[in-house]
Amino acid sequence: MPKFIGMIAGVALGLVSTALFGQNAALTDPPAVAAHLAEAREFAGDLYLPVQQHLCYIHSPEDEARVADRKARNRLGPTPVFDNFYYVGTQEVSAWALTTSDGIILFDSLNNPDEAKAYIVQGLRDLGLNPGQVKYVVITHGHGDHFGGAQYIRDTFGARLVASAVDWDVMANGINRFPPQWRDVVPQRDMVLADGQTLTLGDASITFHITPGHTQGTLSSIFRVQDHGKSHVVAFWVALGFPPTPNRCGNTFNPTRISVGLPTLRAPRWVSPTILTPT
Ligand SMILES: [Zn+2]
Repeated sequence: MPKFIGMIAGVALGLVSTALFGQNAALTDPPAVAAHLAEAREFAGDLYLPVQQHLCYIHSPEDEARVADRKARNRLGPTPVFDNFYYVGTQEVSAWALTTSDGIILFDSLNNPDEAKAYIVQGLRDLGLNPGQVKYVVITHGHGDHFGGAQYIRDTFGARLVASAVDWDVMANGINRFPPQWRDVVPQRDMVLADGQTLTLGDASITFHITPGHTQGTLSSIFRVQDHGKSHVVAFWVALGFPPTPNRCGNTFNPTRISVGLPTLRAPRWVSPTILTPT
C-alpha cells in the first residue's frame, strides 16, 4: 500500500525535521510531506481515525465523535491471522498469541485484568484454544496498555512473564509515575531477555532484538508462522511511535529518545527481511 507507506515516511520525516530544530520547535510538516499526508488520509478514509487522533491530526469535539463512532462500529474479535498466530487484542492495543507444540506464547496483555479476561482469555477460548496453555507472556515494552493484564495471567495460569531488563526497570521505577489506572497492575519482575537471545517453546523459537525508541528496552522479535502449512518468517517490530509523540496537541518533543531510536531504525536487520518473507 504505497500511500500508507508514504504516510509512515511522512511522519518519520516530520520527526527528523523537528529533531533538527530543537525540543520546543513547533511541529510543522514541510509542504511535500504535508501533501503526502493529506493524500494518505484521503486514501484511508475513516480507517485510521484512532491513529490520526493519537497523533493529533484530528482533535475537535466533532472528531472525537467520529472516532468514538468508528470504534463502536469496528470492534475487533479474536482473529486467526496465520495457522499458529492469532490476534486477541482490542482495536486500540494489540495482543497476539503464538501457538506451539507445547503451549501458547502471548505477546502483551492489554490494559488491565478485565481486558485480559474479556479479550485475551475469552478470545483464546473463542478460537478453540485453552488459556491454561499460556506458558509465556512477552511484555514487548513497559507501558501499561501492554503490561496491565500480565500479572493476572501469571497468577491465574502460571505463565512466565518476559521483558527486557531495561523495561523491567521502567515498570518498577514507574509505579509512582504511571497514570493511576496502571499503578496497581505493574507486574513483578520475572524473566529477562537480552538482545539476540532466543526463547524456545515446543516447536517454536523466537529470537528477540531490543529496538529502543518507543521505550529504551522495547523487545522486537523474529519467528516463524505457517499459512496454510507454508512457513513464513515474521519480523515483529514493536511500537513504531516515539513517546512523547510530537504532535499538534502541544506535546513536547524528546530528541534524546529519538536519537536512541534512530540508529535502530537504520540497522540493516530491520531493512530486510520485510514484514513477511516467504521461505
Ligand atoms: Zn507503548
